[in-house]
Amino acid sequence: MRGKLIEFRNVSFRYGDDYPWVLKNCSFDIYESEWVAIIGHNGSGKSTIAKLLNGLLFPQEGEIIINGQEVNQETIWDIRREVGMVFQNPDNQFVGTTVQDDVAFGMENRGVPRDEMVKRIDQNLTAVGMAGYLLTEPHRLSGGQKQRVAIAGVLAVSPQVLILDEATAMLDPKGRTEIMETVSNVQDKNDLSLITITHDLREVVQAERVIVMNEGQVWEASTPREVFSKKDALQKIGLDVPFIAVLAEELKKAGVPVTKEPLN
Ligand code: ADP
Repeated sequence: MRGKLIEFRNVSFRYGDDYPWVLKNCSFDIYESEWVAIIGHNGSGKSTIAKLLNGLLFPQEGEIIINGQEVNQETIWDIRREVGMVFQNPDNQFVGTTVQDDVAFGMENRGVPRDEMVKRIDQNLTAVGMAGYLLTEPHRLSGGQKQRVAIAGVLAVSPQVLILDEATAMLDPKGRTEIMETVSNVQDKNDLSLITITHDLREVVQAERVIVMNEGQVWEASTPREVFSKKDALQKIGLDVPFIAVLAEELKKAGVPVTKEPLN
């Protein structure tokens, strides 16, 4: 049995006293080595969940437990070692002047010794297929390559969970494929939990479990196939017909039988 890595327990969050609640009594678990996709219409609270998981925000009500520790002001530095995040815009997250500096950045902040750092740079750039680019400057890289370097930088500090918050949204199809192949490989090798917040259905289909957010609440948490079987209800919460039709198609391609055609 896999242990629980993340617990959201009755979490409610708003951005200020005069703002509406963005998350309302939200509970879910994420297990070790599990791949979970979080989907939902715009504004349903997905990115807020990612920020709460990384201690960028704290809930007003409820608790978030990661690896047995509650996320709070005192634990955020431990938590940030455990939770690696890659965001949407590849240009905003490249902090080094070369690929190797960029991967080194997180390790430098954590005082990793130099020899160990050189080893991990090499290991993790190899893992994301960017080993030949040590001294390359960011402007010479494609968006997909930049995101792969960002993933290497996150992996270099050995997190337990990797969160991709719309990390493929600004990439062309080739870049998206590169990233998804990369994360799938590194998840297997590093025994990581993976959370993908996404509109890309290939990411949804590859996940073991899908959490569907609606109006700041967990509407459903089950397999991609079970989620698809609720297509009428999905439409009602703003996941539109093309989305569901493509999901069915992707499930078929992935060899998962679907019982009904989506549009009948
Ligand atoms: P999603 O990722 O599902 O699109 P978000 O978590 O980004 O949703 O946003 C949820 C809600 O919180 C939205 O209504 C959004 O407008 C609001 N929100 C997000 N960030 C802020 C902020 N910094 N200040 C105030 N409201 C915010």
